[in-house]
Amino acid sequence: MLVTNHVLTGALVGLAAPGPVSAFVGGVVSHFALDAVPHWGDRPLEEVMPIAVTDGLTGLAAITVVWRRTPSSHRVRVLAGMAGASVPDLDKPSRVFFGASPFPRAVDDFHARIQTRESSARMPQEILVGLGSALLVGLVQRRLGRSRR
Ligand SMILES: [Zn+2]
Repeated sequence: MLVTNHVLTGALVGLAAPGPVSAFVGGVVSHFALDAVPHWGDRPLEEVMPIAVTDGLTGLAAITVVWRRTPSSHRVRVLAGMAGASVPDLDKPSRVFFGASPFPRAVDDFHARIQTRESSARMPQEILVGLGSALLVGLVQRRLGRSRR
């Protein structure tokens, strides 16, 4: 699953969570739940790299936009949800830049084992999940902003 989609679903978890700890844990759980769903992937690394870089930058932009649009009363938990939902994929840039994953082997094995249903034909699904999640985040933020007036 694209990290941008993990970020946006982590924002939804953060918006629903009662606090930052539950938001972070819920974000991590959402990451593995989404990775277990059939999604885009199963391409050679040299083909994935340009998409991964674009996705990483889009994910960072999404974090910034979501954080700025979230009412201050919910910012810490939303940030915690986005962080929890993104952290499991730090193994990818860590392998590229440092040659190793920062996680224990059991975590990496579990992460790889649940992603067996990847397909290069599922990019449209990724884009739909991203747009739908962004729309939901925007609607919840709008409602939160309205209820504070
Ligand atoms: Zn993952």
